[in-house]
Amino acid sequence: MADFEIPEPKEIPVIPKVQPGVMAHSAPFVAKPVFQEPLGFPGELVDNWEDVAVKKLGELTGKYRSLQVYLDSCVKCGACTDKCHYYLGTSDPKNMPVARQDLLRKVYRRYYTIAGQYFPKLVGAVDMSKEVLDEWYSYYHQCSQCRRCSVFCPYGIDTAEISMAAREIMDAVGQGQKYCNEIIGKVYKIGNNLGLPEPALADTLEGLEEEIEEDTGVKVRFPLDEKGADVLVVTPSADFFAEPHVDGLIGYGKVFHQAGISWTLSSHASEAANFGMFIGSYENMRRVSMRVREAALELGVKRIVFGECGHAWRVAYSFLNTLAGPFDFLDPKYPVPQHICEFTHDLIKRGALKLDPSANDDMVLTYHDSCNVARASRMGDSPGGQFVLPREIIKAVCNNFVDMPPDTIHDSTYCCGGGGGLLTDDLMEIRVKGALPRMEALKQVVENDGVTHMAAICAICKSQFTKVIPYYGIGLDMSVSVHQLVSNAIVLGDNEQ
Ligand code: SF4
Ligand code: SF4
Repeated sequence: MADFEIPEPKEIPVIPKVQPGVMAHSAPFVAKPVFQEPLGFPGELVDNWEDVAVKKLGELTGKYRSLQVYLDSCVKCGACTDKCHYYLGTSDPKNMPVARQDLLRKVYRRYYTIAGQYFPKLVGAVDMSKEVLDEWYSYYHQCSQCRRCSVFCPYGIDTAEISMAAREIMDAVGQGQKYCNEIIGKVYKIGNNLGLPEPALADTLEGLEEEIEEDTGVKVRFPLDEKGADVLVVTPSADFFAEPHVDGLIGYGKVFHQAGISWTLSSHASEAANFGMFIGSYENMRRVSMRVREAALELGVKRIVFGECGHAWRVAYSFLNTLAGPFDFLDPKYPVPQHICEFTHDLIKRGALKLDPSANDDMVLTYHDSCNVARASRMGDSPGGQFVLPREIIKAVCNNFVDMPPDTIHDSTYCCGGGGGLLTDDLMEIRVKGALPRMEALKQVVENDGVTHMAAICAICKSQFTKVIPYYGIGLDMSVSVHQLVSNAIVLGDNEQ
């Protein structure tokens, strides 16, 4: 099944012995000029790339104070060393967060600290070189920017931000990653990661309406580009076609139908994902975000709701207002933006949805906290809402729910292994190995509690699990959308409001 060794999930997880260099070979395909240039990056490695890289590093530390603080403040305490799923799954010491940071730190020290300029060997400072660039390209694409290490670092050093900076520098010198940059280009050209044009999207939505009507006898609408609707829903394009994502979209449609609130999708902003964040590019993140603003203005909506997508929510929750705001044209009664889970949770709390949890009795559920939701955003109006709301929704629509071990959920959650722009087949080995800690936790509840399915609210997590769970022999089709569970349980018909 695989041309690499699949790690053995342990009942009691163990920290592996280091095996230097075992993942040095892992690197994604480099982007060709056709994928680099539309994003404003050089097509290929520029002649004076060492100077460009060093200059860009200085520009970034000047622009982002946090980056400079992170590069200056590590005391090598070692608290983060065993916290990264990629280290636990590969045993390559360069996948320890501190070592990953040091790949950039040693260049920063060489050019931007006095000690590094005069006594480089003493402080582990090195010149920018092809060897360094190759290491960056390999190991900064073995970081899913999940921020787990930052939770355990006494100084709060965020390796995700360092990894974003490294990727931004690599793009600036002409060595970008094909997967991310090709996808961002598709969003600019067509509106979504999949390259699904408006007519195909309209067809898909029409098909969904027919399918639901056949199943339930109720005409649930999936409006597209409908001016004057109250709510614009921006959702990952995976929701438009693949299981289990599309089952989640069906759930959103049913919730809006039952709530009696008009909504629309947009062909211009037919993608919630924002890969600009993964490559650390503010400008590309802003360009992608602006499409949401343009669509909201064009359609004259009052609210914006984001579908189930982890990093889209991180960008939306944390940065949308500064990237594409102000959103003063929206109804100030509602948060900008809102998560679909907040929207549904509020309706459930108010008793506005009739639910039959026994519709999900064929499943025993657990819930995977997606990193970007868990550690880089919030949800609702109380701290920890991002952990509480999805679980309360699941418990309202399912009778059987079990959490995974406490050190693997909430803000200690383990990444699915495919986040941060790694969800590509050319990185399958690191994806499978990086999933080990999550698979160990899942296996425990499968064996001890009879869990049959794992729900998530992130398109990347769901896609990654669909692909990697079979490698571990835990089961098939275990990955489900939270709104898929809502869809199963919701009783269509007269509103109870
Ligand atoms: S951000 Fe996540 S993937 Fe990156 S080093 Fe930290 S724990 Fe590992
Ligand atoms: S936990 Fe923080 S301070 Fe300690 S080694 Fe890791 S990054 Fe450095």
